[in-house]
Amino acid sequence: MKLDDLLRENIRKLQPYSCARDEFKGEASVYLDANENPYNAPYNRYPDPLQWELKEKISKVKHVAPENIFLGNGSDEPIDLLYRAFCEPRVDNVVAIEPTYGMYKVSAAINDVGYRTVLLNEDFDIEAYRVIDATNAYTKIIWFCSPNNPTGNNLNPEEIEKVLTWFRGIVVIDEAYIDFSQHESFSQMLEKYSNLVILQTFSKAWGSAAIRLGMAFASTEIIGVLNKIKYPYNVNVLTQKQALHALENVDQTKAWVKVLTEQRSTLLNELKSVPAVQHIYPTDANFVLVKVNDTNFIYKDLVRKGIIVRNRNNVSLCLGCLRITVGTPEENKILLEELRKY
Ligand SMILES: *Cc1c(COP(=O)(O)O)cnc(C)c1O
Repeated sequence: MKLDDLLRENIRKLQPYSCARDEFKGEASVYLDANENPYNAPYNRYPDPLQWELKEKISKVKHVAPENIFLGNGSDEPIDLLYRAFCEPRVDNVVAIEPTYGMYKVSAAINDVGYRTVLLNEDFDIEAYRVIDATNAYTKIIWFCSPNNPTGNNLNPEEIEKVLTWFRGIVVIDEAYIDFSQHESFSQMLEKYSNLVILQTFSKAWGSAAIRLGMAFASTEIIGVLNKIKYPYNVNVLTQKQALHALENVDQTKAWVKVLTEQRSTLLNELKSVPAVQHIYPTDANFVLVKVNDTNFIYKDLVRKGIIVRNRNNVSLCLGCLRITVGTPEENKILLEELRKY
């Protein structure tokens, strides 16, 4: 695969914005290059546009080299940038599984890019040949999400690998929920597959949805493209600091993951004896998809009681389903008590 052939022509030719901090790197005592206010340290200075200190720390935790990491304003940013880099509006298209995370479709619509779907099978899984069948000469990106939202299961990694081998475009695997999963991340396969992009986030296991920090892992060539087209200072200093703090306390994140996976088991077990529950789907994420009687009624009645779950009744293959996030033991208990009343 030659990346230049996949890129949009305007992006390939783009001369990126050169900011003051791109031209000078290192330590100095007098900074008069960026029209900053000399007062109000440390917030007066522009942040590192490429967030190297943060990437070094992430590298140690994720075992991905800093040059293979892109950081953005949530996963939303790399999702949008991938469209902008590779998909010519009204010409190119992408293929995604159905059902899955809603942002791939919204971002396709914003960028005026065709969005083709492949319905998951009855195990909510993929077959590589069916995914490839949905592509044509204008397909630039295939979107996978594993563990998948809203179904909760991992996609078969062998089928994903077949797609990575067969498809001559970008294959994205969104691993937002990988920390809760039994399965390995694809992050150690970047050398094997130059068309692989992995998305991870600080919004779930790291308990940091508010700071808006998403990660993309990919070849240095793909990371270079994302860096070239991003806003120069896309990750602000407050976010970078808070993320460094989280990374220094990685044991805290591990402890949360342990509690939440234990609570997930408890919740799954308890749900089995809830009369209104018809089916509980297997999950490798911090949520569970359950099929219930009178879905819309139960959803609205729970809202009335101040308990908010996600109604997935109108989503393909999720007829009658609610998506329930694993909460604290107390929150899960309150939910179960109410559910038992239906
Ligand atoms: C929650 C979630 C994300 C996180 O998005 P951020 O923009 O990083 O908060 C990404 N992908 C999936 C599938 C999700 O469910």
